Order: sequence, then structure tokens, then C-alpha cells
Amino acid sequence: MNKILVHICCGVDAVYALRKLKEDYPDAHIEGYFYDPNIHPEEEYILRWIETERVCNQIGIKCHLAPYELDRWLETVKGLENEPERGKRCTVCHDIRLEKTAQFAKEKGFDSITTVLMMSPKKDFDVLKTVGKQVAEKYGLEFLATDFRKNGGIEKMNRLSKEAQLYHQNYCGCMYALFQQRKGEFVPELVSFGRGRLPGSREEKLFIKKVRLYAESLGLPCYEQSFSFVSWRLISSTLKINKEPVSHAVVWFSKSTKGVLRDRVQEIVEENDRFIVKLKKSFVKIWILREPLREIPLDFPRFTTEPILIVGNDLRERFEPGTRLEIQLKAQFDENGESQNLIVGKKEAEKTVEFHSDTLADGSGGVDIENVLSAISENRKAILTGNKKVVIYGAKTVGNIGKYYFNNSFINV
Ligand code: SF4
Repeated sequence: MNKILVHICCGVDAVYALRKLKEDYPDAHIEGYFYDPNIHPEEEYILRWIETERVCNQIGIKCHLAPYELDRWLETVKGLENEPERGKRCTVCHDIRLEKTAQFAKEKGFDSITTVLMMSPKKDFDVLKTVGKQVAEKYGLEFLATDFRKNGGIEKMNRLSKEAQLYHQNYCGCMYALFQQRKGEFVPELVSFGRGRLPGSREEKLFIKKVRLYAESLGLPCYEQSFSFVSWRLISSTLKINKEPVSHAVVWFSKSTKGVLRDRVQEIVEENDRFIVKLKKSFVKIWILREPLREIPLDFPRFTTEPILIVGNDLRERFEPGTRLEIQLKAQFDENGESQNLIVGKKEAEKTVEFHSDTLADGSGGVDIENVLSAISENRKAILTGNKKVVIYGAKTVGNIGKYYFNNSFINV
């Protein structure tokens, strides 16, 4: 029997290519191999691996996860950083990945290799074929050069990928291609804006995908409901009292100041759970908590954007009227923010177990994934019978947006 090892780079490219291989080689034993140290950053790499695992589970193909050898990849493409996409760096990049696939195939007794990279409309089929053949020959293997794009392959891939609600990346993988694509602009894809799972972030999506992978492995139906919202990222902030920097947090959706704002304390007003510091000249406010400093999630979306900073109760005595303050804030709004709810089970199920996927920037206020997985496992029977569902809402910390969207949408899942 033919034993084929398939190099896989992502779930989207694999979703049709693996089916096609099974169709073309019905008697062959097929396994996958995920070796992609070209994907940056590591969270993106994990996200693409999880989606690959989901696809392989659906099709019933075992997939091996190779080590993430980022240093090796960076070393090998040294000197080719400025090459355009489809240029010399890409040839070397294909070479590294296919060579490792061939080595593994040889070790484990496979007789042929191939790659789902041949699915991508952005890849040069002839280059892949040449590289694949050379590498395979070196290890005494056959390279299966199938142009998966032919005969409506792309349309089939798109349809299957949509049905499976796969994560669809918007760049090939490496930081060098991304820098070129964005032409010197800020590249948010390569940055983590906090230590947690911010609403609309890759980390939040990763959380959802991990839960989905688990729920599907238990045979449970899952549906991801995506929604858009204006997201916000804090780039930097400074608060100085009489020229001395102090620890603080910033309330979501605070807009940037115009440079450094120098002002004095006008008055302090007492409110239920905090003191509000008002300034003489500007609308910027400072909340002094009655407890140690912490970030504060929003219960409702915020419709004003004047900057609000937060300090802990240890600084209460420092804000006397007339005190000199220096404030600088840089934040970014993104109208293309996107988050998602995950529904495990049927939407109309009477009982609901609720969680949320995001956290505050410092990682607090979130849910431990183990708790979500346990709840899904414990309620498996009730979910299968349609009595219960588990819903994981996105974008909670910015005003319960996911829950609001879920309750007001008319999805039929
Ligand atoms: S653009 Fe894609 S194929 Fe080319 S080097 Fe980067 S990750 Fe590899």
C-alpha cells in the first residue's frame, strides 16, 4: 500500500487538498505533517496548527506536529529578507519545509510526499514541483505533484473552508512578507497588545478555536458567530504627579492626548465606589479607586472617548487641588475589530452555560480554559439531546458586546 506524507501549512489549504488526495489515492495510507517555522508570530503558528488539526480530525487523517524551529528558519533565509514574495526567499522556505517532511517520511517508512502548498493560488506551482521532486529524490521518495487548484479546486476549497468556519489568515506567514505588504506601516499582526486575551485579538480567537477543537472531538455541533465592533488598543501612557511617574491603568476607549498634557487638579468628587479627579483645563479624568489599582472592564459599551486614567487607593492623598499633573496617552481605534461567540450545541436549547473568551490587558478577569472544557464534557449528553448549550461570548470586557449580539441576532444553528 502507498504511504503518503502530506506537508500541511494551514487548515484552509488542507480542507480540499486532503479530500482530493483521498479520492485520487483511495488505497493509500495518508498522514499529515505540520512543519511551518516560517509562520510568525508563534500565536499565529498555533492558531494555524489548531485549524489544521480540526480539518484532519474531520477527514480522519492523523497529523504530526513538528517542532517550531524559528531560529533555524531565520538563519536559513538570512540575506533574503528583502526578497519579494514568490522570490528566492520563498524557494528556500519551501525547500526547508519539504526537506524536513521528506526526512520524517523516510524515518517513518512513507514512500511518497506532497504538500498542500500546491493548493494556494499565491504559490508558484512549478517552483513547488521542482523543489518537491529534488528533495524527494534525495531521500528515495516520490513527490506527488498535484495541482489542487485545477477543476474548480479553489471554489471547492472556499466552500469547504466556509462550511468548517476555518480561520482564514490574511498573510502568507513570515514577518518579512508582512513588512513588505504594509510598506513601513505599523504591523499589528506581529504585536500582542497585552498579556491576556484582548477582545478581538488573535489570543481571544485562539481560545475559541481550542475550545471548538475539543468540543468537536466529543462529537458536539459547534457554530462560531462573528461580529464586528470598534476595537481599541492602548499603545502607551504616562501619568506624572509633580513630575514623578505613577502606576495607573487606562479605561477602554480613551482617545490619545495631543502630545503631553500639563494640567492641575481642580477638584475631587466622591462617587459610589471611587473618587473622580477633575482637571482645570481639560476633560481628562482620573478615577481613584477605593482599593488597589486594577483594570476595570466595561459593563456597557462606552460612547464617549475622553481619556480616563485609573489609580489605586495608595495615591489618594497625592491628588490635592492644585497638584501638577502630566498625562500622555497614545491609543489606536480600529473600526475593523472582529470577535466571535462560540455556541456548542443548539441555539434554541433551553438551558445555557455561559462563559466568555476575553480578558483584560493584564490577563485578569478571564476564564480558565480547563473550566470551559470541563463544563462541555460534563454537559455532553444534555448538549447532544438539545437540552443544553454552552456559549462562550467574545468581547465581554468592552461592554458585553458578544452577549448583546447573541441575544439580538437571528441565527439558526
Ligand atoms: S512569503 Fe511565505 S513562502 Fe515566502 S518566505 Fe515568507 S512564509 Fe515563506
